[in-house]
Amino acid sequence: MNTFHRWSNWAGTQHASPARIYNPTSITNLQAIIKEAESKNKKIRCAESGHSWSSSSVVNDDGFLLNMKQMEKIYPPQLNGDVWTVEIETGVMLSDLDDFLRHHDPPLAVSSNTVIETTRYGGVISLGCHGAALAARTMPDIVTEVKIVDSSGTLQIFSKENNANEFSAATANLGLLGIIYSYTLTVEPMFKLLMSESHPPLSEYFGDPDICGPKLRAMALITESSLARGVRNIFSNLETEFGNTLFQYMAANPAATPFMDYLLYWINKGESENVLYAPEAIHYQAGIDNIPCLATEMAFKVDEGFKNVVKAGNYVVDQVYELAHQGKFPLNLALEMRFVKSSSMVVSNAYDDDPEAICCMIEIVSGAGTPGFEDFSGRAHWAKMWEHVPEIVPHIRRTAGKRLDQFEAVRKKYDSNGMFMTDTFAAVLGH
Ligand SMILES: Cc1cc2nc3c(=O)[nH]c(=O)nc-3n(C[C@H](O)[C@H](O)[C@H](O)COP(=O)(O)OP(=O)(O)OC[C@H]3O[C@@H](n4cnc5c(N)ncnc54)[C@H](O)[C@@H]3O)c2cc1C
Repeated sequence: MNTFHRWSNWAGTQHASPARIYNPTSITNLQAIIKEAESKNKKIRCAESGHSWSSSSVVNDDGFLLNMKQMEKIYPPQLNGDVWTVEIETGVMLSDLDDFLRHHDPPLAVSSNTVIETTRYGGVISLGCHGAALAARTMPDIVTEVKIVDSSGTLQIFSKENNANEFSAATANLGLLGIIYSYTLTVEPMFKLLMSESHPPLSEYFGDPDICGPKLRAMALITESSLARGVRNIFSNLETEFGNTLFQYMAANPAATPFMDYLLYWINKGESENVLYAPEAIHYQAGIDNIPCLATEMAFKVDEGFKNVVKAGNYVVDQVYELAHQGKFPLNLALEMRFVKSSSMVVSNAYDDDPEAICCMIEIVSGAGTPGFEDFSGRAHWAKMWEHVPEIVPHIRRTAGKRLDQFEAVRKKYDSNGMFMTDTFAAVLGH
């Protein structure tokens, strides 16, 4: 138990003053904390690496915050038929699992993952995070079993085979069903990816939707076996540390944004092709979190010809120019577009009934402190910045209300008194 009860997320955009901060190391610890919370009528939220921009870990005088970093056990991988699985406690860091699997005999790897590798699986899976590959879905979609200590202190085990509906809610669960003890993940024999970096003009992929939609589709489908960009480790770390100074300058001097971004573009403008082992390829930019930044992301289902992707890309670019004409530069770091297959998790922003549906995620990233950033809006990535968007709750209720009600029915069963509930999640769940 910590006696100094202050917590901030990595970006410094969320702060909390919980009644207590705990550093549990076992299931018995988790059960004891839940009993104490129940007897004192306190709320509980968990934090892992604290890299989420949303308020999901914020709990104040009325609650306990659990720092889960010491729950980092990795159980021996199991082979069932020809499928490898590995059970991990939720405090395991992404890079630690990569290293563990790399040294396993035979070497194994996670099929797809987030760019960043210093976050932990409890945060990445519970909030429905994702990588970029059409051979893969979102992170919760590689889970086969979840163990959660619910608000009565009971260790609940969820799997698709036992109850697909509850499993879906328990995997990407927004931290609302209880304290997640472990996830069991499907992993693959180690593989390599071709990483290619090129700089075609925007018009090549975002011109006429009829011509460019199919081109974009072909490029997205190639990402099954390749990812963009090949810089790594020390150079990448140096690059991001240097980049941070520039982004701080842009936040303080927005008018300098076009010139500084042009400069960064030329510094980075190389063409390359590299074949890398999966973890190096997937977490392609080491030290990405050296740049404290802001991010929001919107997801949508891609239409057959990828025409809506071309339109959405142009919409964002047009907005950037329109704002620039007004002397505003809220986007200065990256405009990203990633594709994954649909998720079967009810609260996922990539959810779709059709397992073959493709989901496009457009992300806007700017250096911390960039003025005007709050004006961006979209369909929620629960870990990123969505809570400030005007009318976002009615929008989410309108577009995903039925699925959220389905989630809520399961959540209530395991936390009937709302021990794990937050204000913003209460709103989207219709409370
Ligand atoms: C630089 C950077 C790059 C990123 N890249 C990507 C990307 O490529 N793709 C993507 O989808 N996201 C990306 N993200 C977002 C990131 O993956 C999420 O914010 C993720 O949740 C962070 O994990 P964390 O360990 O920091 O979790 P935290 O932010 O510490 O925790 C997140 C939430 O998870 C829940 N939680 C965690 N553990 C438990 C538990 N044991 N029991 C109950 N609830 C729990 C809690 O609600 C908690 O508030 C990126 C973030 C940054 C800063």
